[in-house]
Amino acid sequence: MRIALTGTPGTGKTTIARLLPYRIIDINALVKAGLNFGVDPERGCLEADMDGLEKRLLEIDSDEICILEGHFSHHFADRAIVLRLAPSALRQRLEARGYLPQKVNENLEAEALDVILVESVEMCRHVDEIDTTRKTVEEVAALVCKIINGELDLPPGQVDWLADFFA
Ligand code: ADP
Ligand code: MG
Repeated sequence: MRIALTGTPGTGKTTIARLLPYRIIDINALVKAGLNFGVDPERGCLEADMDGLEKRLLEIDSDEICILEGHFSHHFADRAIVLRLAPSALRQRLEARGYLPQKVNENLEAEALDVILVESVEMCRHVDEIDTTRKTVEEVAALVCKIINGELDLPPGQVDWLADFFA
C-alpha cells in the first residue's frame, strides 16, 4: 500500500520520513536518478517524468506499507498525509536553505493557499493533514504513525494560515 507524505518544500517530509518504521521511497531521488526530461529552463529544476515514475512505482509496489516521500508524491498514491507549516516559520526554513527570494515567495504562497492539500484532496481517496508548527519531529512522526495505524483522523481543514500570513 502506497501512502504519500507530501507538503510544500520545507515542511519536514524528508526529516519525518527518516523517523518512520516503514519502507520509504524518495520520489526526488528517483527523479534525479533519471526519471526526468532535463532541466526546465523556466523553473531551473528538473522536469519530472510523471509516467515513468508511475511505472517504476508499480514495479516496486507490494503489500507492505510504503511511504512515498516528496512534494508531488500525492500524484502516485490514493492516501496522502499532508504536512503543513505556518508561513512565517516556513519562510525562516526556506531562507536558511538559501532559496532565492522569488522561490521563497512562491512556496509561501503555495502553503498559504493550501495548494498541495487541494491537489491531494482532488487526487487521493483519503487525506489527512498535520499542522507541524511548534511540534517536534518526534511528535509529528508519532502522529503520522497513528494516522497510518487507524488510531487518528486529521481531516483537511485543520489550518487557516490567513491570520498568520497577515500577522
Ligand atoms: P522537506 O523534505 O519537506 O523539504 P525537510 O525535512 O528537509 O523538509 O526539513 C526542512 C528543515 O526543517 C530541516 O532543516 C529540518 O531539520 C527542519 N525541520 C523539519 N521538521 C521540523 C520540526 N518539526 N521542527 C523543527 N525543525 C524541523
Ligand atoms: Mg525533502
